[in-house]
Amino acid sequence: MTDRISINLLEWYDLNARSLPWRISPMDGKEGVIADPYQVWLSEIMLQQTQVVTVQSYFLKFIKKWPNVMALAKADTEDVMKAWAGLGYYSRARNLKRCAEIIAFELNGIFPQQASELKSLPGIGDYTSAAIGAIAFGEKIAVMDGNVERVFARLFRISDQLPAAKKPIFEKLNATFCTERPGDFAQACMDLGATLCTPKKPNCMICPLTQECQARAEGDMESYPVRAPKRKKPTRKGAAFVIEREDGAIFLQKRPDSGLLGGMSIVPTTNWNSNQDGETGNQAGPIELSWEQRGEIRHTFTHFHLELEVWFGRSDAVTENGWWSQRNVLAEEALPGLMKKVLEQAIPGCTQPKNLG
Ligand code: SF4
Repeated sequence: MTDRISINLLEWYDLNARSLPWRISPMDGKEGVIADPYQVWLSEIMLQQTQVVTVQSYFLKFIKKWPNVMALAKADTEDVMKAWAGLGYYSRARNLKRCAEIIAFELNGIFPQQASELKSLPGIGDYTSAAIGAIAFGEKIAVMDGNVERVFARLFRISDQLPAAKKPIFEKLNATFCTERPGDFAQACMDLGATLCTPKKPNCMICPLTQECQARAEGDMESYPVRAPKRKKPTRKGAAFVIEREDGAIFLQKRPDSGLLGGMSIVPTTNWNSNQDGETGNQAGPIELSWEQRGEIRHTFTHFHLELEVWFGRSDAVTENGWWSQRNVLAEEALPGLMKKVLEQAIPGCTQPKNLG
């Protein structure tokens, strides 16, 4: 049966592969076109925890600015953080830069070709190293991301609960994946999980594996993979303070390099984090001002929700531990999504690229 799975899946992929800017189409692959390891690596780092639809425009922007690993290695870290702004999980951007420097300056610009070696580089773990190995270098290795996990848990009706289920799922995948086309097999599984074998209402009617799928036979597809009941995310509170200078510039600060939103640009906020609320109210502002409340925003991080009061004030007194960002360059600052929400709440339109106010 495992052969059937591999054959059906690859036949389906040959006709239905998603067209993605970092991907070599199955047709081109058969004609000998090979993937650019830099592009595979970059896309895989961006795709960690992030949807394909979000990643595409960032990927194209990076490739345009920094077309190869040497260009990225030589880039200013601040510029990389700015280009990454809005993509979230900012430690990825710092690791990306560090990794580019190692490959460019210590490895003569040549990517290691084996997952076992790739794994020693910053930001590259089990999944990413296997994906790069298989897709860019044809390494005979099984690649398991969340999509693949779901497909295989359903195909074999694996009843263990995650994360313990990862082991038996991987064993099935390892016994099934196509060693002739490991990269295409990995991408076929990812595409199947993203387009047909979706978490809710999988489209089994047109799935190439419908005959082989044990969950489909039992009609309980959505029960797999088995997950522990979700823990409720706590809601933390805090306040953010948008200070505008007379000429319209906004006061920004830089977060410490490590931790949540590490290295990104923010307006002053109180000391909230995933474990504790920050202060609220205008008395918590960084300086004494006639603060005006401009509503509240809500943002969701991986482990908690955040409700931030947004306060607005005018001053040109604040100059320590930060800088004034002119309005016409505000959109180019390394502003995480949370800060864009805060700024837009305080001054609608101010983070739009063409705002020259
Ligand atoms: S038959 Fe349905 S549940 Fe099974 S792999 Fe295909 S889409 Fe997923």
